[in-house]
Amino acid sequence: LSRIALFTSGGDAPGMNAAIRAVTRAAIAANLEVIGIRRGYQGMIEGDFQPLYASDVSGIIHLGGTMLRTARSNAFRTPEGRSRAYEQLKNAAIDAVVVIGGDGSFRGAQEMSQEYPVSFVGIPATIDNDMYGTDYTIGFETALNTVVEAVDKIRDTARSHGRIFFVEVMGREAGQLALHSGIACGAEVILIPESNAEGGKLHDFLKHGYKNKESSGIVIVAEGDESGGAMKIAERVRLDHPELEVRVSILGHIQRGGNPTADDRINATRMGVAAIEALLAGEKNIMIGIARDKIVQVPFKIAVKLCHRIDEQLLDIQRLMNI
Ligand code: ADP
Repeated sequence: LSRIALFTSGGDAPGMNAAIRAVTRAAIAANLEVIGIRRGYQGMIEGDFQPLYASDVSGIIHLGGTMLRTARSNAFRTPEGRSRAYEQLKNAAIDAVVVIGGDGSFRGAQEMSQEYPVSFVGIPATIDNDMYGTDYTIGFETALNTVVEAVDKIRDTARSHGRIFFVEVMGREAGQLALHSGIACGAEVILIPESNAEGGKLHDFLKHGYKNKESSGIVIVAEGDESGGAMKIAERVRLDHPELEVRVSILGHIQRGGNPTADDRINATRMGVAAIEALLAGEKNIMIGIARDKIVQVPFKIAVKLCHRIDEQLLDIQRLMNI
């Protein structure tokens, strides 16, 4: 192994830059040449490559987004697209690649590795924290803190006016951000795709809890919840409870940005180093993860196939805090 490439792909997540820095420097420390692929698989197809030296990744550890940019690529989903991508890698003498992204990005890597002799190692980066086999994905903690800060502010106005706020957070298939932020903010109810029991909790809260307390209410809604999102559920609640002051806040893209937290930077650095160690040891088609605070290697086929599970104990705790 004398040269590796790396790229970021799919949804951006704060801490991707810290991972780019770690991969680059760990590779250079092992006497490897490093090529950065810009704009994910689309850039791979187009040969949008740039050599990376240790100094190219200075001053980025604290920045959100990704200096290599990211993209979604429909062309890469086709055999022709992957064939063009392989030609580009071959021309640049690259046969080992670190992919920093979510499960879609790992599916693409797995697909390509079955067709061409390219070794992929993945680093999980998604604010959803929904990858199987790792307790932790880069960006989740930062996004969680952003949500907590926003909801704390919303709580101030909710309490002052005695309003109920439906706050929508990201998570099309995963309720991790909603559950964790719900606990951290003392939300009265959370609505998440992984549990359909929470609708009943909302019903109880509106019927009993809210009136009794005569205070405010925060309901955190994951965008993928079966209720259809904060706007829809608020409309229904307004019809059923015209006496309540209902408001909606959709946090949107602020959740993706911002400077990564210390843990996101540290874990991105640990996983970046582990990715290079894995490639040097001849590993391929694995995702680096962190489980029980130890670095682990999870085969792509397991990481992308199995669903993450919501922590039932945490869900119980959330309910217990709202008796
Ligand atoms: P994420 O990595 O954040 O889950 P996406 O699901 O958008 O993001 O995936 C990123 C890119 O990975 C897609 O735009 C596509 O180019 C590639 N990809 C995803 N799934 C596949 C697949 N089954 N086969 C080939 N490429 C895929």
